[in-house]
Amino acid sequence: MSFLSTPQRQLLAELCQQTDLPFYLYDLDKLEAHLTQLTSQNVVKLWYAVKANPLSAIIQTLDKCGFDFDVASSGELNQVLAQGIDAKRVLNTGPAKSKKQIRHFLDKGVRTFVAESHNQVAWLNQAASEHNLTLRILLRVQLRWPDSEKNPLGGDSLTPFGLGCDDWATLSIADYPALDFAGLHIFQWGNMLSTPKLAELWRAMIAPLQSLSKQLGFDLRILDLGGGLGIPYCASSTELVWQELVDALATIKHAVGCEELWMELGRYAVGEVGFYANPVVEQKQNYGANQLIVAGGINHILRPAVTNQAFPAELLRETDSKTKPYLVHGPLCTALDSLGQFELANDINDTDWLIFAQCGAYGFTESMPYFLCHELPAEFVVKNGVVTCVRQSESADYYLR
Ligand SMILES: *Cc1c(COP(=O)(O)O)cnc(C)c1O
Repeated sequence: MSFLSTPQRQLLAELCQQTDLPFYLYDLDKLEAHLTQLTSQNVVKLWYAVKANPLSAIIQTLDKCGFDFDVASSGELNQVLAQGIDAKRVLNTGPAKSKKQIRHFLDKGVRTFVAESHNQVAWLNQAASEHNLTLRILLRVQLRWPDSEKNPLGGDSLTPFGLGCDDWATLSIADYPALDFAGLHIFQWGNMLSTPKLAELWRAMIAPLQSLSKQLGFDLRILDLGGGLGIPYCASSTELVWQELVDALATIKHAVGCEELWMELGRYAVGEVGFYANPVVEQKQNYGANQLIVAGGINHILRPAVTNQAFPAELLRETDSKTKPYLVHGPLCTALDSLGQFELANDINDTDWLIFAQCGAYGFTESMPYFLCHELPAEFVVKNGVVTCVRQSESADYYLR
């Protein structure tokens, strides 16, 4: 099984003939078809978590397909607004909302916020009063279950995202007249590939969330379930079926009795449309292992080093040669720069390219581009079959001072 379609492989081959540097390619035609399917239902309102991939052309495609936008910094906000998107369609989540950032968001016209602490509530209320307006607020909840009980969330280690129910329970919403408390937000799992498991997680949250909103004294009109929908990173992995998810979400929505169900998707929205093309520098044998050294590493595609999960890779050249296992290493002078182990043709050489798939989310902007002063990768898109370079490769003198 291949993560590359034949037209995608041909396109990548043409691009590889024109350069000797690593680059990203995003298939916007595939993206549009995928997103159109996601928004063809009326169960869940979909936001795009911009951190997954903030490239202008990606944001424009999500806009076209009916997504609104979840941003976590002034930089992400400005990038969304620069694509001509109305600030009313922006939601702000994130653990660090300084007074200055809140003011910037209000000045730009953002009116919907996920509050993650008592200070954020107070500062949002203060800024809203000064601007003489009302903000729509969701409180972010972090649930934990006692160790002894069956823990539906699996790992439930403490994070800085939101507050526990007991910590929210002391909030007196009457003290914040400029805020409309519209609902709750909860998101504390990642890359989930099982609909029954997700449905079980969501179901387990209903009672604590209902009880919290009752305790605080507002109707749970909106429930935001965050992201966390997974994509396969290896050929043998299962895949989520969107219709099954929508059915599970409809059940949750009904059980909660809320007016609106929201999700902010990152990986599941854009992950499968990105490729990272990487030239082979050489192969060598070392203590009985086959090592493949490639031109781009975690400076361009960091995620394997922080999650210990490789992006799937295959050889661009189609061949009948026998395969053998290779350990693939990038160019950085640190053992961290490892992109995974793959079964690849035994005649790989310095004219070859590896193509990493499933790189549309958490690719370039999650990386560490400055370490070792290599080039930054270019970013290409293909739309209606036409390839455009959105960002050129840059050499290190572009950022060195
Ligand atoms: C990162 C993030 C998401 C997107 O997560 P995915 O797992 O990529 O879908 C959604 N909501 C919030 C608040 C996030 O921080």
